[in-house]
Amino acid sequence: MRIARFTFNPFSENTYLLYDETMECVIIDPGMTDEDEDSILFSFIKDEKLRPVKVLNTHCHIDHILGNASSCNAFEIKLYAHEKELQMLERAGAASLMWNVPYRESPLPHHYIQEGEQIRFGNTLLDILFTPGHAPGHVVFVQHQEKVILGGDVLFKGSVGRVDLPGCNAADLVSSIQHKLYTLADDYVVYPGHGPETTIGDEKRNNVFVRSDWSGL
Ligand SMILES: [Zn+2]
Repeated sequence: MRIARFTFNPFSENTYLLYDETMECVIIDPGMTDEDEDSILFSFIKDEKLRPVKVLNTHCHIDHILGNASSCNAFEIKLYAHEKELQMLERAGAASLMWNVPYRESPLPHHYIQEGEQIRFGNTLLDILFTPGHAPGHVVFVQHQEKVILGGDVLFKGSVGRVDLPGCNAADLVSSIQHKLYTLADDYVVYPGHGPETTIGDEKRNNVFVRSDWSGL
C-alpha cells in the first residue's frame, strides 16, 4: 500500500491518498478549499493513473471536509463517515462563515462507518476504530499489515487533538488514545490530520498530554 500526503487550506490539514497495486484508492479527509488545491490532488491521481473509489472522513470538522464535494463529484464516488458526525457536517456552512473559509457543500454520507467493520479498496482492508473526544464521531483507519494508522485529529507528534471546540470531550479523547491507539504495537506509524508522522511508541514515551502509565481520568 502507498500513502500520499497533501497539505491544504489555511488550517494546514493533511489530506491522504491510500492506494495499492490495483491502482484503486481512497481519499481521506479531502481539505481542498478551491479549484487550485483540487488540481494538485486530481493531477496526482491522474498522473499515477489511480482510481478513487471512496471518500472517507475521520471526522467532519470544516478543515477536513472542504474537498468532499469536489472529490465526490470529480470521481462520482460516495462519502463515508460516522453517524455521530452528521450534525457537524450539517453545520459546516455556519462553521465556514465563522472560520472565513469558502465552502462547497459536502454531500451527506452514503454509508455510516462503524467500529468493527472493514473498508476495502483494491486488495487492501482498513479496520475502523471509534475514537471520540476531539469530535463525537471520530474514527481512525488502521491497516494492520502495513502497520499504519490514518489518525485524523486524535494523536499528533508530541500533542493531541484540541478539546475546546463544541462536541469535544477531553476524557473521551484520553480514553480513545489509551484504550484504542495505545493498544497497537509501538512500530505502528500514525499519519495525523496535521503535522508530521509519528509512531505509537514515540508518543507513548514522549507525549506529555497522554501518558501510557496513567490509570486514566
Ligand atoms: Zn478536527
